Amino acid sequence: RPSIKALLSSGEKSYSFEFFPPKTPQGAVNLWRSIRELEALRPSFVSVTYGAGGSTRDTTVDIVERVATDTTLMPVAHFTAVNHSVGELRQLIGRFASVGVTNILALRGDPPGDPMGEWIKHEQGLEYADELVGLIKSCGDFNVGVAAFPYKHPRSPDIESDTRRFVQKCRAGADYAITQMFFRAEDYFRLRDRVSALGCDVPILPGIMPVTRLSTIERSEQLSGAPFPADLAERFHAVGDDPEAVRRLGIEHCAELCQELLDQGAPGIHFITMNSSTATREVYGLLGAKAAVTA
Ligand code: FAD
Repeated sequence: RPSIKALLSSGEKSYSFEFFPPKTPQGAVNLWRSIRELEALRPSFVSVTYGAGGSTRDTTVDIVERVATDTTLMPVAHFTAVNHSVGELRQLIGRFASVGVTNILALRGDPPGDPMGEWIKHEQGLEYADELVGLIKSCGDFNVGVAAFPYKHPRSPDIESDTRRFVQKCRAGADYAITQMFFRAEDYFRLRDRVSALGCDVPILPGIMPVTRLSTIERSEQLSGAPFPADLAERFHAVGDDPEAVRRLGIEHCAELCQELLDQGAPGIHFITMNSSTATREVYGLLGAKAAVTA
């Protein structure tokens, strides 16, 4: 298997799927069913999130380990610096390596509770994601991804400083980035152009989640950091009484968005699956992407 860095620089499109650690036994059944169903699509990698405040630390490690040992998939572990000393971070990085996981998405994370609450650095911990990138890289031969924000991070005072900090994070050694979700291709291309104008060519994978119900639109600002596009919301509300029509529109819109991104040079698509394979498989099917997927 090529590394994610090698894959993204090869020009071949990357398709990846994101999961979160389940909280219940039934959730675990659903997760593994989805992983198995999506495995058949032979994605470039699958990623597993790290709960807020480091709350799913052990489950995240368990899932990525099982993905590494029991499936044909390449796992990427999300990993945050919240509530960990540098010593603990090193230990966890070693644990990832010991279970065969050398791909890590390095994040600062949010404070437990209110994500916009005061960020208090662990006494022996790290302040920003760029330091975590450096730490992981100093621990061995890891492929490291970072987060990107098309509408800027909510804590950034303006888009220019957000872009500068992002580029700084890439220069600390990041191999690629994945964006927060968004619903309009132009928002992704603006981010890409801002980053490239600062001389940074780290590949940025668009993070995409299909809208399958109206509640996603209501939560959109919280999820993406920007209001849901008004014209698109209108189209969804026009069929709002019919959940199946909402779902169909969501899948079609998502496939069009992905196609536009790929046609205009995005290096691939990172699907946020919410641990269910159905919508992702439908979008993927519409994309006709099979031929482009890596072995
Ligand atoms: P940073 O890059 O450190 O940025 C945080 C803020 O600080 C920004 O405003 C930035 O501009 C600023 N900044 C950065 N460096 C400096 C500096 N040197 N000096 C001054 N200011 C600086 N959270 C989880 O808890 N678990 C997950 O699994 C998870 N997965 C995610 C996956 C993706 C694709 C994305 C986009 C986000 C994910 N998050 C996750 C959320 C993420 O942890 C939060 O958005 C967090 O608030 C920011 O993390 P970051 O790595 O971007 O932080």
